[in-house]
Amino acid sequence: LIQVFLPLNTLGFVFRETRDALLNAEQLFALLRQEVEIRDSPQARPLRLQDTTLRFERVDFSYEPQRQVVHELSLEIPHGQRFAVVGSSGSGKSTLARLLMRLYEPDAGRISIGGQGLPEVTLQSLRDAIGLVPQEPLLFNDSIAYNIAYGRPEASRAEVEAAARAAQADAFIQLLPEGYETVVGERGARLSGGERQRIAIARALLKNPPIMVLDEATSALDTRSERAIQAALDQAARQRTALIIAHRLSTVVDADQIVVMDRGRIVEQGGHATLLERGGLYAQLWTLQRQEEQAQTLARRLSQHP
Ligand code: ATP
Repeated sequence: LIQVFLPLNTLGFVFRETRDALLNAEQLFALLRQEVEIRDSPQARPLRLQDTTLRFERVDFSYEPQRQVVHELSLEIPHGQRFAVVGSSGSGKSTLARLLMRLYEPDAGRISIGGQGLPEVTLQSLRDAIGLVPQEPLLFNDSIAYNIAYGRPEASRAEVEAAARAAQADAFIQLLPEGYETVVGERGARLSGGERQRIAIARALLKNPPIMVLDEATSALDTRSERAIQAALDQAARQRTALIIAHRLSTVVDADQIVVMDRGRIVEQGGHATLLERGGLYAQLWTLQRQEEQAQTLARRLSQHP
């Protein structure tokens, strides 16, 4: 019997070890591929968390040899601040998050947390310190309670429910036929995109990490879901150092600083008002988003009152 179960347990163990770092299926594969190359150095120490200032210093990065996607990028997010990163699709926003998690190694430059270079700290402590809310969270075909408790399996039911409340997920969960015991379906198919993301936020809140990396969903949400997600994200970023890949105007406006990316470079950085005044790329993106939102609101009204 032991012989039969041992390999399965080992597999379960490996999966457990990697799962905390999951962003989505794509990144799981990246992680598995990278695991051969990215390892703890013999001198690696656990990350110290007194200061969680995130610093990128002249970072270059390419996924493939011929195509550089991050160019000499420098960025500092001070301890406890919330930074929003905006920019067109493909400008390199998610890549920053992946580099911070050390799913990939920069080709040049340095990334550090509180002065500790990522290669100097253990991968486990690094990934324990960062809560990730991906755009397309990976949910398991198991109960909602299991999916939330996933980052901290020993959490009590009361803790799971508190996290769900903070993530604005409790109300919709209560309405499901079996509440927290409802099985979410393959990849969470029984939930909407906004609901899946709130489950992911609850999961991250339960883990209670000092650093949060949030990738907002781009998909159109109705106004009520959008408000709920916004409140949940606020909760997740509160009193933490946060990097938010932002798609919504409200998130951007509330951030301590806005970082505007274009083709792998930071082209503008500052507060909302300053950037608007500047009349550069941020001002353009903002106008474009406003028009899109207005068009969506109009489309919604028309579909409600044809
Ligand atoms: P979006 O807003 O669409 O999510 P983004 O700003 O987050 O875009 P990234 O996902 O960081 O952009 O991608 C930056 C560039 O790197 C893009 O040109 C993309 O095609 C490329 N890229 C991303 N992932 C990989 C990969 N695994 N292998 C090769 N190229 C990749």
